[in-house]
Amino acid sequence: MGGVSEMRTLISAVIAALSLLTVVTVASADHAWSVYHWPSDNLSPTVVDRTTSPLYDVPAGVREWAKLGTSIQPEMATANKKGDIKVKESVISSTSYLGLAGVYLDGDGHITRAEVVLNTRLLVELYGPDPRDIADHVLCQEIGHVLGLYHNRDGDDTGGSPDNTCMNDQGHLGEYTSPNSHDIDQLNDIYDGHSEAISDGDEGGPDCSKNSNAKKCRNGQWITVHVFWAP
Ligand SMILES: [Zn+2]
Ligand SMILES: [Zn+2]
Repeated sequence: MGGVSEMRTLISAVIAALSLLTVVTVASADHAWSVYHWPSDNLSPTVVDRTTSPLYDVPAGVREWAKLGTSIQPEMATANKKGDIKVKESVISSTSYLGLAGVYLDGDGHITRAEVVLNTRLLVELYGPDPRDIADHVLCQEIGHVLGLYHNRDGDDTGGSPDNTCMNDQGHLGEYTSPNSHDIDQLNDIYDGHSEAISDGDEGGPDCSKNSNAKKCRNGQWITVHVFWAP
């Protein structure tokens, strides 16, 4: 029993496991936003709605992502709670984006909190008095970003198939207002079987605790931003 042959079996098992891991990693690169993800001890990040415009139905937007049934289950914060994800409207009149998503990261690429900023003024200016479908599209996409998704665009360059998702920012404005099956696949890739032991050491941001005044560090954390420009 044992000895060299057992060792060989063990080594080939490790190699097989490693190559499996490589395949999984490549497949998951599809339309994930870098390595950014919520840590396994906070897969139900809470959302606070600070919007006042009737254009946005934030609870419905959050439900849409939760009802996909993946491991990441955002939920509305209960009253008076601060929340992990803040959704608000831009108060700066000079901005030229429709929406913006910002995530705060720790050194492992874990999202510690997030912000969605919606540009109501520009939406109304460009698309008329009641651009509800477009507002839906933008809100859906920004929530997708703060859950760890990047864009899924037409064709195969970025993302995957099908690409009829609100994560598509190439035209289709107001046409694709919901996540799709590829978003489910992508979120499963990011969150299913996610082990912090393996993902620790992922490239995140720099350790802002060492220099919280460094560029892009805010309140001691690394922040990175995704912008939905007005076409
Ligand atoms: Zn992790
Ligand atoms: Zn986007």
